[in-house]
Amino acid sequence: MKWSKAYIFTLKDSPSDAEIPSHKLLVRAGMIRKIGQGVHTYGPLMLRAIRKFENIVREELEKSGCIELLMPIVQPKELWEETDRWNKMGKGLLKFKNRLNQDWCLGATHEEVITDFVRKDIKSYRDLPIQLFQIATKYRDEIRPRFGLMRGREFIMKDAYSFDMDKEQALLAYQKMFDSYNRIFQRLGADFRVVNADSGNIGGDQSQEFHILAESGEDHLLVSEDGSFAANVEVCPASDEDENIKLSDEEAPLEVFDTPGLKTIADLAKALKKSEKQLVKTMFYSASKDPQKDLKPVGILLRGSDEVNPIKLKNLLDLNDEPLMLNEKEVRSVTGANPGSCGPIGLNIPIYMDKGVANLKNYTVGANKDDKHYKNVNHPRDFKTERVVDIRLAKEGDLVPNGKGKLKSYRGIEVGHIFYLGTVYSKAMNASFLDKNGKSQSLEMGCYGIGISRTVQAVIEQNHDKDGMIWPVAIAPYVVHICLLDPKDEKVSALANQLYDELNKLGIDCLLDDRDERPGVKFKDADLLGMPLRVILGGRGVANGEVELVERKTGEKRSVALNSMTSVISDWWRQQGI
Ligand code: ATP
Ligand code: MG
Repeated sequence: MKWSKAYIFTLKDSPSDAEIPSHKLLVRAGMIRKIGQGVHTYGPLMLRAIRKFENIVREELEKSGCIELLMPIVQPKELWEETDRWNKMGKGLLKFKNRLNQDWCLGATHEEVITDFVRKDIKSYRDLPIQLFQIATKYRDEIRPRFGLMRGREFIMKDAYSFDMDKEQALLAYQKMFDSYNRIFQRLGADFRVVNADSGNIGGDQSQEFHILAESGEDHLLVSEDGSFAANVEVCPASDEDENIKLSDEEAPLEVFDTPGLKTIADLAKALKKSEKQLVKTMFYSASKDPQKDLKPVGILLRGSDEVNPIKLKNLLDLNDEPLMLNEKEVRSVTGANPGSCGPIGLNIPIYMDKGVANLKNYTVGANKDDKHYKNVNHPRDFKTERVVDIRLAKEGDLVPNGKGKLKSYRGIEVGHIFYLGTVYSKAMNASFLDKNGKSQSLEMGCYGIGISRTVQAVIEQNHDKDGMIWPVAIAPYVVHICLLDPKDEKVSALANQLYDELNKLGIDCLLDDRDERPGVKFKDADLLGMPLRVILGGRGVANGEVELVERKTGEKRSVALNSMTSVISDWWRQQGI
């Protein structure tokens, strides 16, 4: 592509609403433009990167026998009611009525549609196994779209689905997809980790996420140093050395004492000269699916230094969304005291105790009277609990659940997610087949997503510097960027055009900056756009019979004789292994 014929409009300044580098750079490069919260146009350069990534995904999936189809984005309510997800998906599912007053939604994911598709065709075990995928636009009415394409409302996803005759086969399909995903993210050259994950509203009982590591990642990952364990903090079992210490202290008599003005755990720790680890706090949540109607309060007991893990709590209470914390008024109505003075003693609500508290003795809790606490509290002597549970957030330095060392913390961007679903959807939707004995069985399923648009931005989040993007060769919009410094010099211009034609013939995409601009402007734009190899062709070099090549990633420069430039570039290209 020649710049003069291309649609490229770069900006000097970052947009004010962009917080992370990749978002700023993509907007500055004119590669994405917002039309509303979480909804973007992919400009021509971005589309090239996206298409290249899609093709990597397509190639790897097809290699493993997955077949492409395309499903509708507009979907009828009736299908979603079969699995009860019309309600369960909450407001994330954008619903609307058509002119006949019928209810429809925009596809946020396609389990219902694909299950409906195959149940009409698959009759026998002989039709199995089947793996299908599509690459298409999804819409999710995210509460807080942000960071450009990272959390869009409209975005491109690859979603794949597997159908098998039994669990064993389904787990093989899952493993095959796991292997394909590894190859896909390796081909991108990305630094990524695979972690155990929560299944969310999709359902099922085994799932793993693929994360591209980056400081700005929304997800918190905990990984063992030897790599034998990795989990999203959402599901990471918590265990530390302190909680395993069994104290032999005698249980002292329960006592109330005054704690005027001591509202937080930090206040209390200071006043009592104890560490936050030795104190116990009580948090109150609503276990209701509709807190406006009924509050269903529950109490959670934790060490003062720990935090509630909202996903563990959501799963414990069997809710569709993360549970809401009670506000001050609600806490008072349940306990009779302000939040800073509350505890489990004498309450008539379910209390769940984090396992970090289970071995503590003679601890302090709020007395459910303002400005008063109990000391020498012991369980089960002084209060009852429903259960001792693992409900806290694990953190760096905690013990690895498999016993192998301590956890290390990373930030990640979730780019892929694979689930073993079992028969949750096939049972709900009556998708069955006849097995070898002529008996009707429910299809075993798996589902597998890759956030295409998110991944392409995540690659830039991982690969950039102060001057701009650094595209990996695998998905760079163009591989070679020719800076023609003296477009009015006929000889130089002819050489640049000749190189451009020869590279294109060899299948090496190139962008030729043929604008009538100063070299400084061209170099700045070339840095910003970040194509892997820059070729600088100018009058001075040409007079010396030379051209300069610069690798964007390393900044490495070399001069090459004019008459060998095409072969040097094509050798370089071959070495990239694309
Ligand atoms: P998240 O936890 O980030 O909201 P999710 O777990 O809800 O994502 P999945 O249902 O697993 O997402 O979707 C498959 C993939 O689609 C994700 O791994 C992610 O890469 C991508 N994706 C999901 N939501 C978005 C979004 N709002 N914008 C861009 N990509 C998304
Ligand atoms: Mg996910």
